[in-house]
Amino acid sequence: MKKLIVANWKLHPKTIGAGQSLLKDLSPAVRRSRAQVVFCPPSPYLAVLKEKFPKLTFGAQDAFYAEEGPYTGAVGPEEMKSVGARFVIVGHSERRSKFKETDAEVNKKAKLVLKEGMTAILCIGEPLEVRKKGIAASQKFIAQQLKKDIKNISNISKLVIAYEPIWAISTSDSGLMETPEDAAAMIRFIKKLKRTRVLYGGSVDMKNAGEFLAYKDIDGLLVGRASLSAKEFGGILRSA
Ligand code: PEP
Repeated sequence: MKKLIVANWKLHPKTIGAGQSLLKDLSPAVRRSRAQVVFCPPSPYLAVLKEKFPKLTFGAQDAFYAEEGPYTGAVGPEEMKSVGARFVIVGHSERRSKFKETDAEVNKKAKLVLKEGMTAILCIGEPLEVRKKGIAASQKFIAQQLKKDIKNISNISKLVIAYEPIWAISTSDSGLMETPEDAAAMIRFIKKLKRTRVLYGGSVDMKNAGEFLAYKDIDGLLVGRASLSAKEFGGILRSA
């Protein structure tokens, strides 16, 4: 199966024009890549980007856990789908920490995304204080988190898990990095709990992407910061 490389643009770039030029620069690398590539821009850009780049695959960075109703500011999975999203990231650690999302909400979101026939990219990962206690403590944390997040989800054919140790997200400047070897070991552990595709995410760039992708258990990458640079993300796509 092809490796899956997902670009999570987060709250960037500030204008849709900048998003368009990034995709224009990256389109040749996507065409040449042997990976499946998914772009998750800010949701207001989705419809226009899908129209301008019909051959690219898009996803949403999040979707609300209700289909419709009195939820000012929320955007539901079906609405994301209607503007071109085929994938939806759920449970990103930034949503859990900054927006106080609970496992129960993440579970509801994942269920709705799957119900809409889209692929849910479920992010799980342990915080630094857990990792400091060792691998066994981290595995226990991950197993408990996963159990809650996929509770009563039976159809997992469109569920992708992204293992993102929280302490390794956008931390390459501080030197705090997960090793490809430890990432692959944790992903093997996750696959024993749930047999599905598992990506790695956490400070991946064009220099280290190949080392992660070399492990056959790592089915792809979720990329934040490096996905905002055509040079970096193009380099990651070449590694795949
Ligand atoms: C992310 O936020 O999902 C992520 C992996 O970010 P970064 O690549 O910047 O660590």
